[in-house]
Amino acid sequence: MKKIGVLTSGGDAPGMNAAIRAVVRKAIYHGIEIFGIKNGFQGLIDGNIEKMDTGSVGDIIQRGGTILRSARCDEFKYDQGQNKGIEQMKKFGIEGLIVIGGDGSFRGAQKLTEKGYPCIGIPGTIDNDIAGTDFTIGFDTALNTVIEAIDKIRDTASSHERTFIIEVMGRDAGDLALWAGLADGAESILIPEKQDELDEIIERLRRGQGRGKKHSIIILAEGVGSVFDYADQIKETADLETRVTVLGHIQRGGSPTASDRVLASRLGAQAIDLLLNGQAGKIAGIQNNQLVSHDISEVLAKKHTIDMEMYQLSKELSI
Ligand code: ADP
Repeated sequence: MKKIGVLTSGGDAPGMNAAIRAVVRKAIYHGIEIFGIKNGFQGLIDGNIEKMDTGSVGDIIQRGGTILRSARCDEFKYDQGQNKGIEQMKKFGIEGLIVIGGDGSFRGAQKLTEKGYPCIGIPGTIDNDIAGTDFTIGFDTALNTVIEAIDKIRDTASSHERTFIIEVMGRDAGDLALWAGLADGAESILIPEKQDELDEIIERLRRGQGRGKKHSIIILAEGVGSVFDYADQIKETADLETRVTVLGHIQRGGSPTASDRVLASRLGAQAIDLLLNGQAGKIAGIQNNQLVSHDISEVLAKKHTIDMEMYQLSKELSI
């Protein structure tokens, strides 16, 4: 293999730039020509493709977002779109592709692989919702952003003796909420994988009040449902002054943490190695701090699971 392409697709995540840098530099290290494809699969269809060199990825390891930009492209879900992408790969002589993104993006990568164009996926999403890897690029940064925000909310919550219910991102996964809840000592954590009854949440709030707690923090993962409905229910049932904060897109931005930069560097380099070793249709991941690879089809078929021991611990520590 002499020419490889790289793109970022789906929702962006901090650390994607560090992954692009690793892909580009590792390819060049092996004497491979590397092409950056702009705007995800849309750019592949449009031929928005540029050759990259060592300098193209200078000064980006610390930057959030993605220099290749990202996009959602419905056309690529169909044969016609995929075939247009393959035409462009042929035109540029690109023999293999590295796709940095989430599960949707990996479906695209799988389709290209099935059509004879080997792809490797790198999990880049703040949601941490990809099976076969303990962590996805961007999760740690988003988690730290959430914690910083909750610490600030805690200051005002305690001044006014209020209950705050804070919605965090994560799509259908509760990882961000669970980790943030544990790291921030939240009273209750609401995740899609395991839902507490409202009675239990209120009971917990009352116990805290009984101990003289001045404020309470509840973290709700967006996959659970409307944060405003939950706040209304708590207000009505428990007669507690409840405020809602939706953290929103600040969770997707910012300079990646050291952990995310290191993870992105390792997975980016591994993706090149996998392609050069003749692998196709795999995702690069990390499990127990060891680099691993799994078939994309296997990863997509498995449901991401939450660490229930951590969930139990969060309950035991917020009695
Ligand atoms: P993420 O990768 O973050 O999960 P999406 O689910 O939006 O984000 O997917 C990103 C892009 O991947 C889509 O816009 C589309 O171009 C491509 N994609 C998603 N699903 C498929 C599919 N079934 N077949 C081919 N391409 C797909």
